[in-house]
Amino acid sequence: MSRLIPFVAQLSGPETTEWLIALRAVLPGYEVVALADCSPQQCAAAQMAIVANPHAADLDKLPHLQWVQSLWAGVEQLLLATQHRDVAIVRMSDPQLAKTMAEAVLAWTLYLHRDMPRYRRQQSLRVWQQHPIKLPAEQTVGILGLGNLGRMAAKKLCAHGFTVLGWRRSAAELEGVETFWGAAGFTAMLQRVDILICLLPLTEKTRGLLDEDALARMPKGAALINFARGPIVDVSALVSALNRNHLSHAVLDVFDEEPLPQTSLLWSHQSITILPHVSAPTNQQTAARIVADNINRFFTEGEMPLSVDRVLGY
Ligand code: NAP
Repeated sequence: MSRLIPFVAQLSGPETTEWLIALRAVLPGYEVVALADCSPQQCAAAQMAIVANPHAADLDKLPHLQWVQSLWAGVEQLLLATQHRDVAIVRMSDPQLAKTMAEAVLAWTLYLHRDMPRYRRQQSLRVWQQHPIKLPAEQTVGILGLGNLGRMAAKKLCAHGFTVLGWRRSAAELEGVETFWGAAGFTAMLQRVDILICLLPLTEKTRGLLDEDALARMPKGAALINFARGPIVDVSALVSALNRNHLSHAVLDVFDEEPLPQTSLLWSHQSITILPHVSAPTNQQTAARIVADNINRFFTEGEMPLSVDRVLGY
């Protein structure tokens, strides 16, 4: 007998079709069905669902859900959509996603390390001027968040020879990385970084973390890469730090509002590089296999995958 798994998403039609094809290919023996095509009886019977940015009202059509499998790594919206329910959230935890993010971290760290924004500006002015370069070991890169993504990124940066520092919530070491934790550790690390990379989840504790005070603690000339979530950085404090030349450059992949509005002044700021949330897209094939493994373990062994801590928010 095949088991029905609702797919609850706010995606474009083509995206939904692509995901359904990828998921059905790795879940033979199950019927993965868009919520709109599920009958009331099928909705009532569903124990779990695969979700991508679901509306709370859509999830409420599935009254007996025990858990949801998200296709994304970030869960701040899903926590809100399920705040009134006792539903476990399983987020996307895919080694391929971490590799893709680590590649982006290396690429944009090198962009800053090799002064590419400055040479781009010089080119636009037809200026031929060479600047001294630092060795990677002389460049201190600090990573905020040493989770699935931060750990892989740290490893990649260490392999390239950068001096890597990392900050996390819990007091746990990471080989090859000088590790900091807590409020005191946050300040101590910020004071040492040439390049700061944000890979934190958006939670009550991290919203607005990189504010005026935090940015002021970074050394003059340091740069910021935000690949996590927009609201972790106070953008007006960042622009002010860039305008005062306290910080040299920011690479931003994530914003308070996405797509970044056409009217945003960030688009034309010469010390900001804008990316359209592309640092680590979910890979459909590898992600679908992770989802299938989690679902198979649940239905054959009764084992629920590791879920998000609602109090910590990640
Ligand atoms: P994760 O495995 O849950 O790791 C989170 C890390 O942040 C952990 O090291 C955790 O510390 C640390 N942390 C959380 N709250 C903290 C606090 N208050 N103070 C200090 N450290 C704190 O998450 P992940 O899989 O690495 O993903 C991180 C985020 O990246 C996601 O939440 C998502 O928003 C974002 N993301 C962005 C993209 C993109 O394309 N731009 C793609 C995927 C994900 P402990 O180690 O002590 O628990």
